[in-house]
Amino acid sequence: MKVALVGIGKIARDQHVPALAASGDWELAATVSRSGTVDGIAAFTDFATMMAERPDIPMVSLCLPPQPRFAYAEAALRAGRHVMLEKPPGQTLAEVHALETLARTMGVTLYTTWHSRMAEAVAAAKAWLADTVVRRAHITWREDVRKWHPGQDWVFEPGGMGVFDPGINALSILTEILPAPVHVTAAVLEFPENRDTPIAAQIGFSGGVSADFDWRQEGPQTWDMEFETDKGPMALRMGGNRLELGGKPAGGVNSIMGEYPALYARMADLVRNGQSEVDLSPMVHVADALTLGKRVTVAAFNF
Ligand code: NAP
Repeated sequence: MKVALVGIGKIARDQHVPALAASGDWELAATVSRSGTVDGIAAFTDFATMMAERPDIPMVSLCLPPQPRFAYAEAALRAGRHVMLEKPPGQTLAEVHALETLARTMGVTLYTTWHSRMAEAVAAAKAWLADTVVRRAHITWREDVRKWHPGQDWVFEPGGMGVFDPGINALSILTEILPAPVHVTAAVLEFPENRDTPIAAQIGFSGGVSADFDWRQEGPQTWDMEFETDKGPMALRMGGNRLELGGKPAGGVNSIMGEYPALYARMADLVRNGQSEVDLSPMVHVADALTLGKRVTVAAFNF
């Protein structure tokens, strides 16, 4: 099946293009980007032109930042194309509800991807937790915004979510593996004095769950989730790619390169089966943290 990739930037180059090149389901048939291209692939700078000239491409994968994404998704769905959305699936919950309704009306597939849910050890962690009582859980998600979003001011603009852009990956795992749902009860949000979104956040949830997100960590990066249960301790490290039981390694890999191939395989299944997959539970936690959060002003941030 042919796919058009829209927004040829960091994640398109790092993950989508290699995943598509290795896919038995998908053929990258066109790109749409104002300046980005992929060698050997038909390149368009305008989305409407691609849609008009390439009716043979049934699926559009949107790798744009969240702020412009809704208009592209809406146009693609209205034109009867299947749509795959990078995370977070929109700027707001209501945007995605509208897209879900439109996809149903048009009879096409909409997939709100959560790449971290495809990390190597997530399914094993979910299975292990299924018959436990979780007494406490703590997420530490600390990374360097300059490394992962070099010069990308959109993350600090309204709708960019700030540190919740990576933090939502942890929340996508949490909502996938917890045996019982939790909800945000309090948050502290650290806003750089010159920015509109937080650079760090500490979040409290019901059920003894807490999270520490920070975008100012240089050197080694930390993507850990630690659980205390009635069966003993369990931890997911490396963004869900490594499992630890009782403090000892219990499986997984040291790479994140399996996540995007799994997303495209899932999208192929959804299209073949005429289904959509729209899960907003990670984004509900972000919206609630932004609603309940106490704002603290911290030092200005510049790339
Ligand atoms: P990016 O490199 O800043 O943006 C991707 C491309 O989108 C840009 O190269 C640009 O291409 C196009 N674009 C940017 N703003 C636009 C606008 N206002 N209108 C139309 N096109 C626009 O961002 P990214 O890091 O790839 O992130 C994109 C999405 O992937 C985000 O939702 C992010 O959360 C997600 N993601 C990122 C990472 C990561 O490590 N960075 C990891 C996983 C997921 P042109 O200028 O050529 O049009």
